[in-house]
Amino acid sequence: MQCHTASEYMSARLDSQLTGEEESALEQHLAGCARCRTEWAWLQHADALFAGPPLATPSPLLAQNVMARVQRHATRMTMLRGGMILFLGIVIILGMVIIPMVALSGPMDTVASSPATVSALVGVIVRIAGILATLAQAAYLVLRAVVASPGIAALVVYALAAAALVLWWVRIVAGPGSLTMR
Ligand SMILES: [Zn+2]
Repeated sequence: MQCHTASEYMSARLDSQLTGEEESALEQHLAGCARCRTEWAWLQHADALFAGPPLATPSPLLAQNVMARVQRHATRMTMLRGGMILFLGIVIILGMVIIPMVALSGPMDTVASSPATVSALVGVIVRIAGILATLAQAAYLVLRAVVASPGIAALVVYALAAAALVLWWVRIVAGPGSLTMR
């Protein structure tokens, strides 16, 4: 038997299309030809690879695992989002309470000792109105992020923007150092 004939027989054998006689002829050639034995081994490997069950049908267990993982991920994201909203709410409420107190405490002493400086108090009230407007803006940003639910990344950006606005107002209105002095 020639090597190219043996090669054709090997393919036919993988498809179970060899007669008994052809099969024994092939076996005979393989026994005496190292090159064809190697080819036969490779052909069997390739055949097993394509006929293997993992590629044919994914098990129902795999689908279950994937769905469970997606579910866990969604739950974690919801918890994370909820925690972040809670944190932002606390920051905003604290800002609304603390910043007016800090801004008021200085001039209030002056007003108490000298009623002539009422205009200073008016100025403080105007400034506090500005602070509250900024805080309301920050709250609006957070609320918009929550309503739109654009995901954690966008929510972080909103949170940073809100925090930056609050800090900016603390520096401008209360003045540098006034938070630590009192
Ligand atoms: Zn051969």
